[in-house]
Amino acid sequence: MREEALKNRGDAPYCAATEDIKKCGFASLLELAVSVPSSYIDTHLSTSLNVGEVHTFEAEVISAKRVSNRLVAEVKSELADRAVEVTVFNPKPYHSAIFKPGMRHTLQGKIERFGSKLQIVNPKKISQTGLIVPRYRSKLRQDIYRRIVDSLVRVDNLLKEGLDRGRAELIERIHKPDKRWIELYYRYGGFGPKTIEALKFAEAFDYFKRMGAKRKRFDAVKSLAGDISPFLKRLPFELTDDQKRAIDDIKSDLKSGVATRRMVVGDVGSGKTMVMLASVMAAYPQRAILMAPTSILARQLYEEAKKWLPESVDIALVTQSKEVGDLKDAHFIIGTHALLYRELPNAPLVMVDEQHRFGTEQRSALEKMVSTGKKRPHYIQFSATPIPRTQAMIDSALVDISLIESTPFEKDVSTYVIGERDFNRVKEHIAKETQEGRQVLVVYPLVEESEHIGYKSLEQSEDFWKRNFDGVYVTHGKDRRKDEVLAEFAQKGKILLATTVVEVGISLPRLSTIVIVGADLMGLATLHQLRGRVSRTGLKGYCFLFTRNYKSERLKAFANTKNGFEIARLDLKFRKSGDLPDGKVQSGKSFRWIDMAEDERIVKEARERARALLLLKDQ
Ligand code: ADP
Ligand code: MG
Repeated sequence: MREEALKNRGDAPYCAATEDIKKCGFASLLELAVSVPSSYIDTHLSTSLNVGEVHTFEAEVISAKRVSNRLVAEVKSELADRAVEVTVFNPKPYHSAIFKPGMRHTLQGKIERFGSKLQIVNPKKISQTGLIVPRYRSKLRQDIYRRIVDSLVRVDNLLKEGLDRGRAELIERIHKPDKRWIELYYRYGGFGPKTIEALKFAEAFDYFKRMGAKRKRFDAVKSLAGDISPFLKRLPFELTDDQKRAIDDIKSDLKSGVATRRMVVGDVGSGKTMVMLASVMAAYPQRAILMAPTSILARQLYEEAKKWLPESVDIALVTQSKEVGDLKDAHFIIGTHALLYRELPNAPLVMVDEQHRFGTEQRSALEKMVSTGKKRPHYIQFSATPIPRTQAMIDSALVDISLIESTPFEKDVSTYVIGERDFNRVKEHIAKETQEGRQVLVVYPLVEESEHIGYKSLEQSEDFWKRNFDGVYVTHGKDRRKDEVLAEFAQKGKILLATTVVEVGISLPRLSTIVIVGADLMGLATLHQLRGRVSRTGLKGYCFLFTRNYKSERLKAFANTKNGFEIARLDLKFRKSGDLPDGKVQSGKSFRWIDMAEDERIVKEARERARALLLLKDQ
């Protein structure tokens, strides 16, 4: 029923128009509407001819001749005291036909001075004056395209699409400008801010409407309404508001009878595990499965589940090397991708931690697990990679999203952008921290020396640190002894020199300070990950961004922000403005008007409007 209702939504009055819209290369009327003209031709007659300006004027052909690859004609206009010389390069037969003595035409082009003469090169012949004609980028012929736009992009149709009147009028005007509008357009060199807002809104609204209609919903294997209070009672702390909100989202998902598709996004340390465990309780006594990308993580989750869930919940652990508990009896099965190759009992709830860290093959096996059958399990993904909020809203058209923005305890990390001249002070800071039993991580952009990079490499710097400090350890991504070095450093090291590729899998509870050499070479997301390693246990933390460009706005902005979602937004903003270090470009749909770094409010409003519309039509 719902599918049917969704399919017919909105486009019923436009069945005939759909073909035309397709012909123009678009999927919806709104998409056609937000595809604006690349320019306008104003065919109002000029009242004078001024050198250096584009004019439209009537003229009579006095003479015309071919001169090698040009056609040169003389024309007379009432607006000029002398003849105007017309030059057409590479003329077509059409040009010879219209430039015949005695013929009158309306011409348009830029008036130039050529010696004592006035000249106009490659003028356009205007067939109808007094118009402002939009020109579109399209493979279709302009007049055909224009006719389609004229007949479809109209306020009444835009209203039927669900747009509000104000924005509908602004958008119609773009395609049917009047004299006053076009004057402003030229004066300000483009659309006004209200018009641009309307375009952004219409684009977002169209996206939500279409995705909403496309999104398939399946019946859940079971609707689940377990009691989570026995779990909550065991916790020695209060859940954060964001954790509570995510859990509420999930509880209502699981109850609803429709198979859940939700993504919970929260920074490292935001407390996603508690949300997973609450979900297990909401499914209990039905079975839940949780997959983690590494066996270390799987084991950690198992330990936490053991610690926090009531004893009545039977928990099993499956990794390649180990199997604890009986899968058939377990209420909660935790494991790595090893789970995918095991005979698993049915489970109405499937969860995955950090899905992007699984291989392609495993991801598709997982996908299959949750997308076969008429009834599907509830499926919840957890991600520790914050995305810009606006991106999250856009993504929410296809999968429900819960953001966990706050962390249970605010970390106290001070961030400083530093240069060469500050280095002595940082050295003193490091001496003090290490003397007091805390640890320091220094991250280098490269292992070996390189001319291009402008910073010392790990190898070049090793000596300096070893001369000045004791307890210095060195490792990097390709170091085969990496795990040993890290383990030993964790126990008795003071300073660890490493590269960004080193995954510090083990926790370093005494790590108070990180120095990032060449911070300007790194994306903000990387810097955020690195900074996230210090002060995990509530120590006062310090992050020093060592750069040759210590006036960098990007680094300054980073130093002032801790929220991962805000950092993701800033990252996008600075990448777009060209200040981009390591180059992973945001994937996903690209929009003509919406800016993921700036348009949170507009996208939110568009989503709400689309939702309201979808709900209304559903009843
Ligand atoms: P994530 O998986 O999102 O990176 P975790 O779930 O591992 O984060 O949580 C990080 C730490 O915070 C854990 O030690 C966890 O026990 C603790 N924690 C989670 N929620 C809270 C809370 N509401 N109050 C205090 N501590 C919490
Ligand atoms: Mg986690």
